[in-house]
Amino acid sequence: MRRISILGATGSVGQSTLDLIRRAPREFQVVALTGGQNIAQLAQDAREMRAELAVTADPARLDDLRAALNGSGVLAAAGEAALIEAAQIPSDWIMSAIVGVAGLAPGLAALEQGMTLALANKESLVAAGPLMLATAAAHGARILPVDSEHSAIFQALVGEDPRAMERVIITASGGAFRDRPLSDLAHVTVGEASQHPNWNMGQRITIDSASMFNKALEVIEAKEFFGLSPDSIEVLIHPQSTVHALVGFNDGALMAHVGPPDMRHAIGYALNWPERRSLPVARLDLAAIGRLDFAHPDPARYPALTLARQVMAAGGHAGAIFNAAKERALDHFIDGHISFTAMSVLVARALDDVGVQDDAQDSGDVTLESVRRWDHLTRQHMDRLAFA
Ligand code: NAD
Ligand code: MG
Repeated sequence: MRRISILGATGSVGQSTLDLIRRAPREFQVVALTGGQNIAQLAQDAREMRAELAVTADPARLDDLRAALNGSGVLAAAGEAALIEAAQIPSDWIMSAIVGVAGLAPGLAALEQGMTLALANKESLVAAGPLMLATAAAHGARILPVDSEHSAIFQALVGEDPRAMERVIITASGGAFRDRPLSDLAHVTVGEASQHPNWNMGQRITIDSASMFNKALEVIEAKEFFGLSPDSIEVLIHPQSTVHALVGFNDGALMAHVGPPDMRHAIGYALNWPERRSLPVARLDLAAIGRLDFAHPDPARYPALTLARQVMAAGGHAGAIFNAAKERALDHFIDGHISFTAMSVLVARALDDVGVQDDAQDSGDVTLESVRRWDHLTRQHMDRLAFA
């Protein structure tokens, strides 16, 4: 029996992870599950999986969680400290699938215990990549990528010498507004932005796909995780979402990872790693797909990609500032305070305003405290910009 915990169990990635675990009930013992506001889902899954502990991020919901778990034998807890404790309970494999930088501290806590962390939470690598990697190295922990593009690169590198890697190409569907006239984008609604052409994901990452802030985060995530130079990372629009990423080697070969747009592939690969096991995902019919298209993204349509380059060039805390600005811009778009196109305008402004401050670019020490401080300052600044 492998002991497994899931941070962000009630979300899209968390639920897909549980789906895989349900299919092999004798192989896994669920230790801890965490969630946010969806107490009913959290309690139902914790009961079904006979988890030891269920944690809601919101302390105000602790009584609800206790009531929902009454008589189940599952312990209930709430708040950030409890999320960190859940991450520290020894397990063989832990899924980091909280959305946003809120996933950073629990992920670090698991790494400090030397655990194997399956990482969907890209924000933690964007905000604190060097810290995540150094923590893993110091404690003999392992990070397995779960983001589909990064899982694809990871898989393409099996058996290869990473030094022979010349470049990586990350694909992007182009999101909800790929074919919308540019002049419409200032007026698109939250509902429209929440429709992804190919993937079924949480609302925040879906909107980030429409703006390509998601791809911007993924470029930074790839740089941090694989230790790549920014120039060696390319992004191509690929409307079919079938090729997830390609690795280019020094002999000119490109190794492409081709698969259905179903997160259970990347999650399952991380769950079974280093083995491959049968997974319940569709088998691609390439003849039915017929063609695979690739195109350069238009920088005018996707300014977030240019911002990612700026962030990588700046280093230090630019990733933490960028991520916080993006998270807050998204909050303001969802709440109807700013337009879709204002998100990238305000994030660019925050990078300029906050990023130039004294020690923002001091890469000497990216610590949890320093990331929290820049995250907080940036969110405050974004609130001023949003209501200016
Ligand atoms: P989601 O919104 O569906 O779920 C997020 C989970 O995090 C939920 O369990 C929620 O309760 C919890 N949560 C939200 N705010 C929290 C907070 N402040 N503190 C603690 N917990 C909190 O998100 P998702 O789509 O499953 O994405 C999760 C992560 O995986 C994100 O980092 C996302 O970028 C990444 N990712 C998702 C997909 C996908 O297919 N959905 C693909 C690749 C990467
Ligand atoms: Mg991805």
